[in-house]
Amino acid sequence: MFDYLIVGSGLFGATFAYRAKQLGKKCLVIDKRPQLGGNVYSEEVEGIHVHKYGAHIFHTNNKQVWDFVNGIVEFNRYTNCPIADYKGERYNLPFNMNTFSRMWGVKTPAEAQAKIETQRQEAIAALNGREPQNLEEQALCLVGKDIFEKLIKEYTEKQWGRSCKELPAFIIKRLPVRLVYDNNYFNDKYQGIPIGGYNKLIEGLLEGVECRTNTDFFASEWCKSWRDVAKCLVYCGPLDQYFDYQLGRLDWRTVSFKTRIEDTPNYQGNAVVNYTSHEVPYTRVIEHKHFEMFGQEVYDCPRTVVSEEYSTEYKEGMEPFYPVNDERNNQLAEQYRALASQEKDVIFGGRLAQYKYFDMAPVIEQVLVLKMEAL
Ligand SMILES: Cc1cc2nc3c(=O)[nH]c(=O)nc-3n(C[C@H](O)[C@H](O)[C@H](O)COP(=O)(O)OP(=O)(O)OC[C@H]3O[C@@H](n4cnc5c(N)ncnc54)[C@H](O)[C@@H]3O)c2cc1C
Repeated sequence: MFDYLIVGSGLFGATFAYRAKQLGKKCLVIDKRPQLGGNVYSEEVEGIHVHKYGAHIFHTNNKQVWDFVNGIVEFNRYTNCPIADYKGERYNLPFNMNTFSRMWGVKTPAEAQAKIETQRQEAIAALNGREPQNLEEQALCLVGKDIFEKLIKEYTEKQWGRSCKELPAFIIKRLPVRLVYDNNYFNDKYQGIPIGGYNKLIEGLLEGVECRTNTDFFASEWCKSWRDVAKCLVYCGPLDQYFDYQLGRLDWRTVSFKTRIEDTPNYQGNAVVNYTSHEVPYTRVIEHKHFEMFGQEVYDCPRTVVSEEYSTEYKEGMEPFYPVNDERNNQLAEQYRALASQEKDVIFGGRLAQYKYFDMAPVIEQVLVLKMEAL
């Protein structure tokens, strides 16, 4: 008999199991995938940790979360500084003085601000007093024509599979511009990658916990009778699937990856390069070694692994990555959440079961603040 049957070995399930174990509780963790770790799992290829379910960069302002994960495995000093490629022109992201200097030859913050302001005012004037009606108009009013056309327009269209004129304005509320020479993508105080890869974090969290992979809850003996084996169910699978889709299916967006080995130690000189024009069908290229290898280490590892990322329409059987934030799905998810709140002894945890996008740190935080003793 277990205290908890945990469905899903991602960061929610694994952190939950860790805390439960500390309280002397017995857990069984199952996952339908062939390995543990959920989306942070990485596969070792050519001595490189390849982020199989998309590049994951840990970042947080929460010291408790940062200390917690570093207590399991030390994190390195990786700092996310993506590059954008627009038809061969290279720009630093996020939009900052390096970007503006490359785009317009400006040197000072005042010059950059003046340039942006002139282009913003042109866009605002073109609206003749009306509010922006779509994402294109909204973005033009926020940052002006040059930044929009080179760094936002086609990239956004590739991500959403629709023209920026057809996308609603609310998708982009703010487009921060930094008037300093700072390429660090995140504003958070702490960021990095676990030394030795994310699997080390998952192994540390699940050490001493009974786990079974290739075990789909819905196809398992426990689905209908989990109370026979555990006092409480921690469910991290899709919210609608738990209720057998009785109110209808929730939609997802997904990303697909084409991963290959390149016979060179350093393919693109950076972990993340965004391709912001339609000339290239993928949105990003990830070179995995740069998350964990620095300086000479890059060259000591003779080959490299790169993944092209394609924004892909979700179909059944694909990985459900991002919830769709529209009225139909928001309402349906609310109805499912109401059903979930009626379930006795079941905790719906993590991104799939809550139908919400969460970064890694907030998922861990959710478990750390749970009053486990009271469950
Ligand atoms: C492409 C992509 C990139 C991301 N990049 C970042 C980033 O850079 N930084 C960041 O902080 N966050 C990032 N995230 C978010 C991060 O992946 C999540 O915060 C994290 O994975 C949440 O953990 P989880 O346990 O909720 O879900 P998951 O990691 O998805 O784990 C859920 C687990 O449940 C299992 N499961 C589902 N159904 C069943 C079933 N029926 N039976 C058994 N097992 C089941 C699944 O196989 C899976 O292993 C990214 C997410 C995506 C999709």
